[in-house]
Amino acid sequence: MTVSKEKILEYLTEVKDPEIPVLDIVEMGIVRDIVVHNETLKIDITPTYSGCPAMKLIEDQIIAELHKKGFDDITINTVMSPAWTTDWMSEKTKQKLKSYGIAPPGRLSDDEFDPLNYVDKEVDCPFCESNETELKSEFGSTACKSLYYCNNCCQPFEHFKCH
Ligand SMILES: [Zn+2]
Repeated sequence: MTVSKEKILEYLTEVKDPEIPVLDIVEMGIVRDIVVHNETLKIDITPTYSGCPAMKLIEDQIIAELHKKGFDDITINTVMSPAWTTDWMSEKTKQKLKSYGIAPPGRLSDDEFDPLNYVDKEVDCPFCESNETELKSEFGSTACKSLYYCNNCCQPFEHFKCH
């Protein structure tokens, strides 16, 4: 059985980001490389956020998904460099985030990201597009998201942080 890298990528779109179930790990940019050698698969993944406890879960899900497709010999490498950035999400992916009710990350600006002085410049409400929003908490349901409140439509929402 020979399988193409493209086919494996297609299988991996079945693995959703545990934190954002509308997005799969391929569109998130988590999958970095796939090497197919006979029936052996080597997959490189990059964590979206160093503090994300979801990575182990993602690994388990990749293995489970590929087992279902008949692959038993799977090696997963975690690649830390270059670090994942939200720029790896396509515009389409960001739109999906938004329709899921999470304000998508903006483009990283020219200035270097400084995690200690992290401020989101302006976050638009994913429901009404208003920029009358305020940061309620640096951490939403997970470390990757912060919690905002929209003063226009009075709804709380989460923002996927840029980094
Ligand atoms: Zn709103």
